[in-house]
Amino acid sequence: MAKEDWTILPHCAKESKELYIVLACDGASSVGQVGNEIAKKLTLSNTGARMCCLAAVAANSPTHVKIAKDAKKLVVINGCALKCASNILEQRGIKPDYVLTISELGIPKAPTLDFDDEDVEKIALKVLEDLKKL
Ligand code: SF4
Repeated sequence: MAKEDWTILPHCAKESKELYIVLACDGASSVGQVGNEIAKKLTLSNTGARMCCLAAVAANSPTHVKIAKDAKKLVVINGCALKCASNILEQRGIKPDYVLTISELGIPKAPTLDFDDEDVEKIALKVLEDLKKL
């Protein structure tokens, strides 16, 4: 895609108070990639959601820790039962408003980066509905 066609997102450091900040583990497995794809879908849904850098929160970047703390609502997506994204936030003393773990939704963790688009679509729609109720 040419640079002039890029979708420019809200600036998460400046606008986190107005945003549903989404932090996904982006694990290197089927469920990690489903979670990342859902984070992308939410970000592009035009509903005020914006994925942000979980690795930066894990690295204790003050800017990114503040983004997570300031979020209008904080959405966390784990791939599997290890719940790395949730654990990172717990270590930073940050309580999420909404937590999703893909492997608990009937999607098996497999050593692949491939996933079913229908799974992503279905779960992203459910999350969007849930976010309206927060
Ligand atoms: S929660 Fe599971 S899929 Fe995500 S990074 Fe951790 S081990 Fe990988």
